[in-house]
This record gives sequence, C-alpha cells and structure tokens, in this order.
Amino acid sequence: MAKTAIITGGSRGIGRGMALKLGEMGYNVVINYRSDSSKALSDDLAKEITEKYGAETLVVRADVGKYEDCETLVKAAVEKFGGKIDVLINNAGITNNSNFIDITREQYENVINVNLISLLHMCHLALPHMLDNEANIINISSVGGLVGVTNQADYCATKSGVIGLSRALAVEFSSRKVRVNVIAPGMIMTDMLRGVNQDELNALASTIPLGKIGDVEDIAGAMEYILKASYVTGQVLSPNGGFVMQ
Ligand code: NAP
Repeated sequence: MAKTAIITGGSRGIGRGMALKLGEMGYNVVINYRSDSSKALSDDLAKEITEKYGAETLVVRADVGKYEDCETLVKAAVEKFGGKIDVLINNAGITNNSNFIDITREQYENVINVNLISLLHMCHLALPHMLDNEANIINISSVGGLVGVTNQADYCATKSGVIGLSRALAVEFSSRKVRVNVIAPGMIMTDMLRGVNQDELNALASTIPLGKIGDVEDIAGAMEYILKASYVTGQVLSPNGGFVMQ
C-alpha cells in the first residue's frame, strides 16, 4: 500500500516542486492550498502528478494559520488514505519585507501565525497518526532562520522558531520512530521573489558563491535526500548556493 504525504502550501513554488517529487517517489500526495487563486493550480497539479506518476492525490483547502482548518486537512488525509500519515511537509509560508518601525502588529502577528504557529497545529494534529511507523516531518525554514536579514525581523523570528521546534520534536519523538528535520532554503526562484526586478536579482546572484538563485528542484532534491536518510534527525539542511555556511 502506498505511503501518504501531506504538504502545506503545495499549490505553487517550492511546495509544488516537492509535491511533484513526492508523487514521483510513489506517495499518495495531499496538496493543501489556501486562496481562491490557488484552487485551479492545485487541481492541475494533482492531475499532473496522477498522469505522470500514477500516484493518488487529494486537494484540501485549509488556512494553516487556523487550528480548525488544520483539523480539516489532517482528517481528510486520514479518511482518504487509510488512517496513517507517513510524511508531513510544513511548507506554507509568507513574508512582509517591512522595516521594524513601520510594520504593524497585524502584519507581524500574521507572519508568526502562518509561519510558526501553523507548524505547532499541524504537528500536534498529525503526530498521533505518525507514531511507530518510520514517519518523517520536514519543516521549511530559511537562511533567514540562520542569519539576520534586514526588514525581515518577524520572518527571521519564525524561521529560527521552526528550527527550535523541529529539534525539540526530533528528540521527543525519535523513540516513536518519527524523524524531524529542517530544510532552510537560500534564495529560490518563486513568487516570493516576484517583487525583485532583474537587476536586483542579478546583484543578489552575484553575492552567492555558486553565482545563481536556486530552483524549486534544489529543494525537492533536499527533501528526497532527507526522506531516504534513515539515520538523520534533528538536522538543518540548507541548500543556499554557499550564501550561508554553518
Ligand atoms: P510562494 O511561492 O509564495 O508559495 C507559498 C505557498 O504557501 C502557496 O502555495 C500559498 O498558497 C501557501 N500559503 C500561504 N499562506 C498559507 C496559509 N495560511 N495556509 C495554507 N497555505 C498557505 O512561496 P515559496 O517561495 O514557495 O515558499 C515556500 C516556503 O519556503 C515558505 O515557508 C518560505 O518561507 C520558504 N522559503 C522560501 C524561499 C524563497 O527564496 N522562495 C527562501 C527560503 C525559504 P496560496 O496561494 O493558496 O496562498
């Protein structure tokens, strides 16, 4: 029987790349999205995964910042695919890009909710279905969780928090055969970089030792490595072109 993977924010960007890789690896793929504009993208992605790889899919709308929506997402996955969850990828995330004087309370609370509290919700709800089953949680952080970035105080706080949460869960659940790891991407070409013009992108690329912005496939490859690496838990893997060396 195929294993089941849930990916939050799977409609586009890094999440889409990882969803395709999960399908290629033979998982049933549960694709989560939030906005109206992502519904068609998610349905198309589900179709593509089934046509290309023969994998089963389920598309579930849920705002992972809301506990009740996370309950809906986990319940739908468990009901459709036989009671257990093998992989949880907490990928959904947002950013503000605002200096810390002008940022509003509403803006930073929203980032903390979507980027960090949502992971507590999802892990809390999914873990009971993952125990004693060689399961994996992969949480998506950022190089912003490893170093300071200007105009990203709220984002950096959440992405450091993701690492702390993941290490604690890795220790607590290793005896129940759940591995918990982090991917901390560097700059990856997705909608998250849509506000950056080509000249700025070139300037950014020139600061990266490997000389380029990364692709979603770079992160999907890191995910595949972690899923196969049975002796790896509590670790942070940072595909970032050498931009940050830990
Ligand atoms: P993206 O292209 O903007 O996609 C974000 C995804 O998250 C979308 O599918 C979006 O769905 C979903 N999402 C946002 N808020 C959500 C919510 N409340 N509930 C459910 N889904 C939600 O972003 P990305 O660049 O792929 O980033 C993915 C992850 O990688 C994020 O955690 C980000 O912080 C991290 N990351 C990205 C980069 C980068 O350079 N791109 C670098 C480091 C880390 P909707 O369209 O439905 O809102």
